[in-house]
Amino acid sequence: MLSMRCKVRMSASGVHLFDRVSGMNVLLDEVRVPTERFSRGPRYLSVALTNACELHCAYCYAPKHAAALDRERLQAWAVELDASGCLGVGFGGGEPTAYRRFAQLCADIAQSTSMAVTFTTHGHRLSPELVDSLRGAVHFVRLSVDGVGATYERLRGRRFAAVARAAGLLNSLAPFGINAVVNADTVGELDDLAKFAGDVGAAELLLLPEQPTSVTPGISDADAQRLVEWAATARTSIRLTISRTGLEAALPIAEVIPGELPLDAHMHLDAAGVLRPHAYASTGVPVGGSIMDAVKTLRETA
Ligand code: SF4
Repeated sequence: MLSMRCKVRMSASGVHLFDRVSGMNVLLDEVRVPTERFSRGPRYLSVALTNACELHCAYCYAPKHAAALDRERLQAWAVELDASGCLGVGFGGGEPTAYRRFAQLCADIAQSTSMAVTFTTHGHRLSPELVDSLRGAVHFVRLSVDGVGATYERLRGRRFAAVARAAGLLNSLAPFGINAVVNADTVGELDDLAKFAGDVGAAELLLLPEQPTSVTPGISDADAQRLVEWAATARTSIRLTISRTGLEAALPIAEVIPGELPLDAHMHLDAAGVLRPHAYASTGVPVGGSIMDAVKTLRETA
């Protein structure tokens, strides 16, 4: 039976029902929705709260200049997006838990909207106190774990035992997934990563082929092929997702909506308040008073 908590999104694909608590998605694709009733917001918005992060991963694509979003403006934009049919916001960065009063922001948005609130973290700022203050305010979390053991420690410059502890904390908070950047260092450790994800109670393993940046070339064709072959033969009970672009974010919603345009599926708000088609896009639209005005302009100019 469908819950009364369901949020409804309408589009050319039909009527999409989403429950942020259970992560349930139902697409009623036999329903024809008149154009004037289409939801105008993107289905999902990823948000870089801050560019700040104390780690120094070589393949990081986050901008390095100092920037952070204004809390009040963000809160107002969240309410606007919610009313426009957006199903969820995913906080990232930089490191979102480095954002001032992060837990309060999550709680405020969870209370004032019916969107799913999610975030992606390196995990090293999580404490029992922070996790307690996030309880009930987030619906899904992604923990970044690139490789296991010594590989993780070399790539991330932090103890692997510490990220395993972070996974334990998240397991008490909300459904969570493991994100792993796949590159020459980690492609040989996919079995170990899948085992780690299962052992710590993760709901999903999201594999992110390394993207090119100004200083790194991204995953090689040979390693991408190894990844595809591994996925085709992997024996793991954990749900696997492979991102072609690294853009998919932290929301347990339907992966593919037939006929959905990219800018209806997802947009990205950077820490300087510029709305972009995705986190790697070089151009975007500065958000002024209304984020839906920026959504409209981005669609018109993209
Ligand atoms: S943890 Fe994430 S944001 Fe921080 S440096 Fe690494 S990739 Fe960048």
